[in-house]
Amino acid sequence: MILILNIIGQIRKKIQNNVKINVLFLLTLERKMNDNKNLGPLAGSVDVIKLCSQDKVYTGTIDKSYFQRLAQSTNALISDVEYQLHFYQDMQGVHIIEGESKVVVELICQRCSMPYQSTLCANILASYDEDKLKSLKLEQKYDIFELDEYSHFDVYEYLEDCLLLEIPIIPRHELEKDCLLQGSSWSFGQTVVEDSDNPFAALKDLIK
Ligand SMILES: [Zn+2]
Repeated sequence: MILILNIIGQIRKKIQNNVKINVLFLLTLERKMNDNKNLGPLAGSVDVIKLCSQDKVYTGTIDKSYFQRLAQSTNALISDVEYQLHFYQDMQGVHIIEGESKVVVELICQRCSMPYQSTLCANILASYDEDKLKSLKLEQKYDIFELDEYSHFDVYEYLEDCLLLEIPIIPRHELEKDCLLQGSSWSFGQTVVEDSDNPFAALKDLIK
């Protein structure tokens, strides 16, 4: 009897262990699937110094679900986020990240209150080498970022910061013909020049 109980106990233990292993396996698999969900090779924090010394170029697309702040700051994210980034050291040994990132978003036109699609495009020229840049008087040219305690840097968070800065302060249809308020008298940030004030009005008459 004791032997049977022992065997049952061992089987139960085995099953429990298997369940644990299965859960772990599933969690790993799920993470892997998420990682494969367009997370790309630059996920999380990267070793900028190493990538720059290896002169690495990355091109990819990141699933839009990783850009929650951007989603909350727009009406919707239409596309995933594309990026092309070059990690390198320049002639003076400054570690630089250069490239661009873009995403198609939906914004609300502040003229006609209708949604419209716009491409946010961020040009990136950044470095953490603040001291070196200052000694070269080049600090204005670069966006300075900080490395974490492990000398790493979260590239995706940075791309999101850059794209957030590209959202227009007052979104509106880029082409007037697309705007419901086209041709309305409300000019937006533009000065309407009356013919009588316009020095070229006389020329217009001549052309007729
Ligand atoms: Zn509009």
